[in-house]
Amino acid sequence: MTINNIVDESFIINQNKLKKFENKCDNIKIGIMGGTFDPIHYAHLATAEFIRDSYKLDKILFIPSGNPPHKKRKITDKYHRYNMVLLSTINNDNFIVSDMEIKREKSTYTIDTLKQLKQIYINAEIYFITGADAICDIETWKDVEENFKLANFIAATRPGISLLKINEKIKDLKDKYNANIESIYVPSLDISSTYIRNQLNKNKTIRYLVPELVQEYIYNKQIYNNGE
Ligand code: NAP
Repeated sequence: MTINNIVDESFIINQNKLKKFENKCDNIKIGIMGGTFDPIHYAHLATAEFIRDSYKLDKILFIPSGNPPHKKRKITDKYHRYNMVLLSTINNDNFIVSDMEIKREKSTYTIDTLKQLKQIYINAEIYFITGADAICDIETWKDVEENFKLANFIAATRPGISLLKINEKIKDLKDKYNANIESIYVPSLDISSTYIRNQLNKNKTIRYLVPELVQEYIYNKQIYNNGE
C-alpha cells in the first residue's frame, strides 16, 4: 500500500471517529491539542496521552493550525501538516483530528476555534493544551479574555523550560482575567519540531523521533528538504 493510500484510509477512519464523537459528546471533557505540528513528533503524542490520563479527559482533539498569524518563518503546507497528524493518531481511538483550522482561508485565531467547538460540543468542558512558551505570549492573542471564558488552559512544560517563570505568568493571568489555567510538567522526551527540521536539513536521521508513517510521508513528499 502506498503512503497516499494510507493517508486516504486514515482520513476515512478519522471521519468516522469524528462523526461518532460528535453524536456522543454530552458532558464530556475534551482536550484540544492545538499546534503548528511542523512536523508532529512523539513528544506531542506522549504529551497528549499524559495529559489525557492526568486530567481524565475523554478524548484529545488535535487541531493543526491553518494559517497561524504569529509565525514569522515560512511553515509547511497545511495539508501536509494535517496529513502527518492523521497518520500519527490513526491507531488511537482517543485521538481524533479536526480540520476546522485547516479549512479556514483567513488567519486562524484560537478564539474562532473555541467558538466553533462550543457550537459543536455544546455541553462539553474544553481543555486547551499548548506549549508553555505559548502561554507567555497569550496576551498578544486575539480576544485574550474571551479565550479564557470559553476554555480551561493547560500549559505543558518540558525539560529546559523554567516552571517558575511559567507559574509567575499563570498567576498574573489568573489575577488579571480570572483565567482557569494550569501548568503541568510532562516528563516526555526532549524532542522539538525545530530539532527534527534541523536533522532533516542536515540529512541526519529522524528515526524513532516521529512515527514511522510520518517519516515515510516526509521522505516521500520531500518536505523539509530546504530546512526552515
Ligand atoms: P509554537 O510557537 O509552534 O510552539 C510553542 C512551543 O510549544 C514549541 O516549543 C512547541 O514545540 C510546543 N508546542 C506546540 N504545540 C504544543 C502542544 N499542543 N502541546 C505541547 N507543546 C506544544 O506554538 P503554536 O504551535 O504556533 O501554537 C500553539 C497553539 O496556540 C495553536 O493552537 C495556535 O493556534 C495557538 N495560538 C493562537 C494565537 C492567536 O489566537 N492569536 C496565537 C498564537 C498561538 P514544537 O515546536 O516541537 O511543536
